[in-house]
Amino acid sequence: MKLAMIGFGQAGGKILDRFLEYDQRTGSEIVRAAVAVNSAKADLMGLKNIPEENRVLIGQARVKGHGVGADNELGAEIAEEDIDEVQGAIDSIPVHEVDAFLVIAGLGGGTGSGGAPVLSKHLKRIYTEPVYGLGVLPSQDEGGIYTLNAARSFQTFVREVDNLMVFDNDAWRKTGESMEGGYSEINEEIVKRFGILFGAGEIEPGGEVGESVVDSSEIINTLSGGGVSTVGYAAEEVSREKKGLLSRFTGDDDGADDGMDAANTTNRITSLVRKAALGRLTLPCEIDGAERALLVMSGPPKYLNRKGIERGRKWLEEQTGSMEVRGGDYPVSESGFVASVILLSGVTNVPRIKELQQVAIEAQDNIDDIRQQSEENLHRLVEDDEDELEPLF
Ligand code: GDP
Repeated sequence: MKLAMIGFGQAGGKILDRFLEYDQRTGSEIVRAAVAVNSAKADLMGLKNIPEENRVLIGQARVKGHGVGADNELGAEIAEEDIDEVQGAIDSIPVHEVDAFLVIAGLGGGTGSGGAPVLSKHLKRIYTEPVYGLGVLPSQDEGGIYTLNAARSFQTFVREVDNLMVFDNDAWRKTGESMEGGYSEINEEIVKRFGILFGAGEIEPGGEVGESVVDSSEIINTLSGGGVSTVGYAAEEVSREKKGLLSRFTGDDDGADDGMDAANTTNRITSLVRKAALGRLTLPCEIDGAERALLVMSGPPKYLNRKGIERGRKWLEEQTGSMEVRGGDYPVSESGFVASVILLSGVTNVPRIKELQQVAIEAQDNIDDIRQQSEENLHRLVEDDEDELEPLF
């Protein structure tokens, strides 16, 4: 599936940069066009793979290239004011060649949190292609203002896109790691999952393997109907390393190469489907009640079979209670892994979002209290007790 990706804000730009790198590395060709938008000049300059002419600095008149400092209302305002400049960069995209737009942003900050919903609304008004969002939730230790920003942006972003795919930094946070090192691993996880998902729709049906290759229309249909999505992933190494060294992960693949029977393949696939659905999702949630799902099995064709995917699909139908579970192959001959990626769309039982909203409301109340308190404190400091002094003017 070919996407026009727009990375909004620092996180959005970095993840987009990583998608481009993934595309080059794997040859998956899902990023047909890439535009980065930011109000902070330094963040735009730090990007590696996005062409200079596709980096748009907004809000120069208001913030002079220094960013909006986690003020997402200001982020939304400057996006609105400078939407023509963003559109200018999008004008150079061959939109007739893309299947959809993907607007990527961290929801806890200012520029992306405020700007991504504004841009999505604009794109939906102008183009007929679907506009999807990829929104990153802050981890809980980032504090109240980030949580409040994310909760407000989430509400708005879901409303303005055809589907919001969510990644929760909190579910992926590791202790004892530097923020940057942590993000690097997290961003790799993001591009791997979404890269396989969207890459699946890039293989021509009937191409490498004649069986049941995922088509981009299946991704679009799974995402249609709106709402919130999450993605599961599980993989198993199948390759033997060249030069005769056996990888320590291969385990029961020993000697499985050519004589591997169909039952083995089927079992491997169903077990990977279970692991992907019941393991860590990009947004942790209850999968029961998901409205639609898409199962993608990727790997060398000899490790994929229709029966395994069919069994996995049936199992997903039972677990989600959904009647709309699609599934198919993503054959990648040279891959050393068999991977299962599951897109669960229209999820509604998401305790993490309810918690986020609760913390956001508390933060909002606290901020109001503190603001009021500090006004009173300042008044007490500046005014003399008996009101004997007069200001100059
Ligand atoms: P903006 O530039 O004002 O849009 O704000 P940032 O993108 O810097 O930060 C917004 C939020 O995104 C932060 O609160 C973090 O939760 C998250 N974030 C920042 N950088 C990264 C990154 O590289 N990867 C991921 N996954 N999240 C990030």
